[in-house]
Amino acid sequence: MRFGGLLLLLLGSRHGDVVSSLSTTTAAAAGTSSYLSQVPMGPPDAILGIAEAFGTCEDENKVNVCVGAYRDENGKPWVLPSVRAAERLMIEEDINKEYAPIVGNPAFIRRALEFAYGKDVMEAQGKTIAGTATLSGTGACRIGGAFLAKFLGEGTKIYLPDPTWGNHIAIFREAGLDVQRYRYYSRATNGLDYDNMMEDLKAAPEGSAVLLHACAHNPTGCDPTQEQWGEISQLCQDRQLHVFFDCAYQGFASGNSEKDAWAIRKFVEDGGHASLMLAQSFAKNFGLYGERCGTLSILTDNEEEKERVMSQLKLIVRPMYSSPPIHGAHIVNTVLSSPELSAQYVDECAHMAQRIDAMRTALTKALKAAGSTHDWSHITSQIGMFAYTGMNADMVTQLTDDYSIFLTKDGRVSLAGLNDNNIEYVAKAIHAVTDGKPITTEELSA
Ligand code: PMP
Repeated sequence: MRFGGLLLLLLGSRHGDVVSSLSTTTAAAAGTSSYLSQVPMGPPDAILGIAEAFGTCEDENKVNVCVGAYRDENGKPWVLPSVRAAERLMIEEDINKEYAPIVGNPAFIRRALEFAYGKDVMEAQGKTIAGTATLSGTGACRIGGAFLAKFLGEGTKIYLPDPTWGNHIAIFREAGLDVQRYRYYSRATNGLDYDNMMEDLKAAPEGSAVLLHACAHNPTGCDPTQEQWGEISQLCQDRQLHVFFDCAYQGFASGNSEKDAWAIRKFVEDGGHASLMLAQSFAKNFGLYGERCGTLSILTDNEEEKERVMSQLKLIVRPMYSSPPIHGAHIVNTVLSSPELSAQYVDECAHMAQRIDAMRTALTKALKAAGSTHDWSHITSQIGMFAYTGMNADMVTQLTDDYSIFLTKDGRVSLAGLNDNNIEYVAKAIHAVTDGKPITTEELSA
């Protein structure tokens, strides 16, 4: 122990460090309990905790429809062949592992933003869009939240849809914003609660931020129509709301990434919002989940403003993680820079969306075949990765306990977890837990 203190002195530690090091050593020697003994057990994550429980379940019939990750026809993760081809090219080209700049590789950011905003917007106003690479969509939301808290003020209200991806709430709260909700989904009809959404956004104080899912809303799979998007954009302008688009499923809604960018591009074309920010993830549409690849971008009025915004994004990123991961960014840049790989990628993304869509139809058919008399048509009218079934927490618990089917407590089913081998089993189980019980509040009051 004396040696430890001496070593610190030799290493030139500041006096205070040495004193605290010695007093810690003394506390340990005296057997007093460390502060770690007072650390309380935290609750498991609402989504990843269930995924962990799936991993330890020994039932051979178990089904994971919890996490939003694509699975192929055999229930296996799928690396897109265009992504593999890009990786092979990167090896051939002997790409090095140097650090990226704080805000990422500019070529990647340009391609990524073009993917979201479109070529025309990038040509016309690309020079005034501030963009940084991020640790996927989560990192983009966190950096964007931190930026809003820093420059609109700690405690600025951000309105999130109710329901939303569970992590949004913690991300924006941790970033220093005051999380508020707007109504989004009607349990009565299992559809968009448009009128109440508009009422809540109208009541939001001017200068608040509002988070909008750009497409394939998670968890409901329910998006506004184009006409409704136009009205939402107008309302955000009228109320001077800071618009924060979260785009985690571009390509998964319709199978076509250009089409799925419609709402973002409409808002950009409209202009006139207090500000517009976009969190972009390549986890789902490129299958780059673990690569943590995404961007955050902010529209500015001119190049000088963009430079100031960029300088502040750097100041937020640098003390958090210094610079972003490079591998996923190289992949996306390689695919999107090559006309051949881009064309191949478009087909592969469409294939994923089509398989998920086929599972929607198959699940509703299998439910009917199992004898269910509920109206499950919302499953086929919803879009994206999930079916928001209307099942309540008790039904979900029974599905997990009695049938080893793992899903989130809100009744959300990740359709990519279904395939020809398990769909009948899942449908029969869903029928068993919902038979004779309401799956909408309308059915409840009927
Ligand atoms: N936003 C939404 C709406 C999501 O559903 C997700 C992933 N489930 C994310 C952001 C972030 O995902 P990632 O950090 O893996 O890109």
